[in-house]
Amino acid sequence: MSRIYTCCVCKFAQPADEAETADVRSNVRALRQEQFALWRCGQCRSIHARDEVDLDAYYAAYPFFGRELDAITRMGYRRLTRRLRRAGLDPKPLPRRGQWPSGHRGQGQPPPSAREPIRQAQGGLATSPKEGGVEDADTPTERQQTILDYGCGSGLLVEYLRECGYSAVGYDPYSQTHSNPTALQRTYDVIIAQDVIEHDADPLGVLATLDALAAPGGLVAIGTPNADGIDLARPEEFVHPLHQPYHRHILALPALQAAGRDLGWSVERTYLTPYTNMPVISLPFIHHLMRHFDGCIDVLFERPKASLGFWLNPVTWFYMTVGYFLCDNADIVALFRKPTETA
Ligand SMILES: [Zn+2]
Repeated sequence: MSRIYTCCVCKFAQPADEAETADVRSNVRALRQEQFALWRCGQCRSIHARDEVDLDAYYAAYPFFGRELDAITRMGYRRLTRRLRRAGLDPKPLPRRGQWPSGHRGQGQPPPSAREPIRQAQGGLATSPKEGGVEDADTPTERQQTILDYGCGSGLLVEYLRECGYSAVGYDPYSQTHSNPTALQRTYDVIIAQDVIEHDADPLGVLATLDALAAPGGLVAIGTPNADGIDLARPEEFVHPLHQPYHRHILALPALQAAGRDLGWSVERTYLTPYTNMPVISLPFIHHLMRHFDGCIDVLFERPKASLGFWLNPVTWFYMTVGYFLCDNADIVALFRKPTETA
């Protein structure tokens, strides 16, 4: 008798021998020789890793990611911020870092009284006058929106947002500097979860956590691979969004939107490309770069030797300049809004 696969996203159960399946290699060099089994839900089209694995051991093999907030990283974050602004993030945050009035602990941090969750009227996330509470003589009269980068890694995006003047905090249980759970004891006007839900054994549980962290009327921005944009018949072509064994469940965009609606969220905007879809840092260029070497993400964290052939190749310059026109929909950003009034 065939094993039954049950989708953790839509709860559809189907015999394993009727499911679309694939075996794919890891795109991490240390695991390159290993194959991982995947299956696709016949109803919501989400893709699931078939087998339980010792993720702690696999994360120990993860290439070191020593990125800095350089000009190229800032380019991508600028685009991300622009997308958030179109969905209601205040384009003019209150005083820039280090410009908060004196008298509060933590240089460059907004005063505690500016951290209440926003109660927006309707529509966008317009900055509203501060509500109630104790009025400090040196407190700004306008309330600044608050941003949480959930799963922030080393916190580069948080650093960038603070540079822009936003009140941003990060949380990541695996980060040495951003693992303080007190960040989760309040709500935020904007929550960013980039490359997070697909790593979790319980993606709907992560969405529920984001919902609890969002203030009424708050914005939830989810960047994640899109199972609908991945063809399991060509697993090598999609080896990076599949990213085995680290991506446990990859939702199809309609399934992600349905999960958001189940939480009461409305779909604010959807982008079928990642925020990095621009010259120099687009996925088509990054994928070309990795293909030229050994097809592993380790290439991104090192200075590959013998790269002359790569830079002399006209295809490289094509991908670097206009490759973003070729970006597929295997990596998306979905922006949701939590209702102003919760039932
Ligand atoms: Zn499903």
